[in-house]
Amino acid sequence: MIYLDHNATTPPAPKVIAAMLPVLSTVWANCSSQHGPGQEAKRALGAARATVARVLGCRSAEVIFTSGATEANHLAVRGLLSAAPPGRRRALFSAVEHAGHLRLARALAAEGVTVDWIPVLPDGTLDLASAQALIGPDLALVSVMAANNETGALMPVSALAQWAQAAGARLHVDATQFIGKLPFAFADWGADAVSLSAHKLQGPKGVGALLLRQGVELTPQIVGSQERGRRGGTENLAAIVGMATALEQLGDVAAEARRQVALRDSLERELVQALPQTHIWCRSVPRLPGTSYLRFGTLSVDVVLQRLERLGVAASSGAACSSHGGEPSHVLTAMGVPADEALAAVRLSMGRTTTQDDVRYLVHNLPPLLTPHLTPPPTRSSP
Ligand code: PMP
Repeated sequence: MIYLDHNATTPPAPKVIAAMLPVLSTVWANCSSQHGPGQEAKRALGAARATVARVLGCRSAEVIFTSGATEANHLAVRGLLSAAPPGRRRALFSAVEHAGHLRLARALAAEGVTVDWIPVLPDGTLDLASAQALIGPDLALVSVMAANNETGALMPVSALAQWAQAAGARLHVDATQFIGKLPFAFADWGADAVSLSAHKLQGPKGVGALLLRQGVELTPQIVGSQERGRRGGTENLAAIVGMATALEQLGDVAAEARRQVALRDSLERELVQALPQTHIWCRSVPRLPGTSYLRFGTLSVDVVLQRLERLGVAASSGAACSSHGGEPSHVLTAMGVPADEALAAVRLSMGRTTTQDDVRYLVHNLPPLLTPHLTPPPTRSSP
């Protein structure tokens, strides 16, 4: 199987599994227990936290382990909002946030929070002029993704951080798709809080973190003594060790990014050459290295995915979490893409396990399967 759905999730790295197994079998005590085994677990937790902090360029105390990015996003948004001064009851989100995050924003609006949306331009980048106009003294929080999970487009988080800071608002960045794919250090953007998820970077599912800048006030959403009182619940030590190992084995992220850019560019070039009806979204803007979001004319995505399946290639029509509704992607809709084009969208997302042979196989075998659907058969001339 050729797996081209790394933005949905990634295969756990062998080193990650090897690091988790002994924790599951031997270091299973509760990190909060006072006895020897508990203290051993506590030391393992501290070591994992130190590794996470080192790789992400923050302090250990700035790492709050969660069950993944969805929880980290909820903690950041609800936690920063309720810690904001009483006069600040407005939150700002981009129109192209992850589907789960959009639901959170809508839930907040239903609870009486004023929610505003930053639009995107037709090229998939954030409308900076609108963003700047929406950031003001009554704003509690800006919450924006670093990279879009469908198009791969990168968002201008540093500019947003500056404006938010000047207005006295907090900035939360959902870096779930960014971390592991492009070089990252917590201080780079000047954000107050950053979410990440282990399963997007060859770690296990069900674990992630919120990085929270020291001194930033946040109201816990799950109360308890763990994580310095900021997130209650017995720590999932094996998963946390798996996440630390996944981050540690990322190695030279910039070099891997260059490798994936080369693979992605050759994939796109050859598909366009073989099938001139191919359209690639966000091709001309800064985007994630291995993400290609495209359509073949207006050929239904179901037809394309079925042909890919036949070739043993796993891909998706966009975000895995929202790809079952038959609705056009909210990201493409926000970019002004007509429904018939949006319903043809296919996302090919590469990762560390993707090889040049995978790309060669795809560009060699997919076009012949799609051509008959794209080109009307030649009309027969009568004898
Ligand atoms: N944000 C973004 C941008 C994502 O792509 C995802 C995963 N699809 C999430 C949040 C949710 O992450 P998790 O699965 O860890 O809850």
